[in-house]
Amino acid sequence: MSGSLAASLGGAPALTYECSRAGCREAAGQAIRWRNPKIHAEDRWKTWLACDEHLEFLREFLAARSFPLEVVPVAELSDRATEGGR
Ligand SMILES: [Zn+2]
Repeated sequence: MSGSLAASLGGAPALTYECSRAGCREAAGQAIRWRNPKIHAEDRWKTWLACDEHLEFLREFLAARSFPLEVVPVAELSDRATEGGR
């Protein structure tokens, strides 16, 4: 009764990021911040998360559309960055 699931997960990181690629459940190590100039305001950036395997796939997907983007380590993401603002 006093046992908790959290206790059994001791050592797990407080924050985990999951790859944004459809169907992929891998932990993401990198984040891609991007925006579509046609529909997003200049200060509106989206954030995709990518595991090592899908980073190139996702980056190429956006680059092929000439969207501005930048790749940053998830460690450098803030809470604000992952949700793209309020
Ligand atoms: Zn992935």
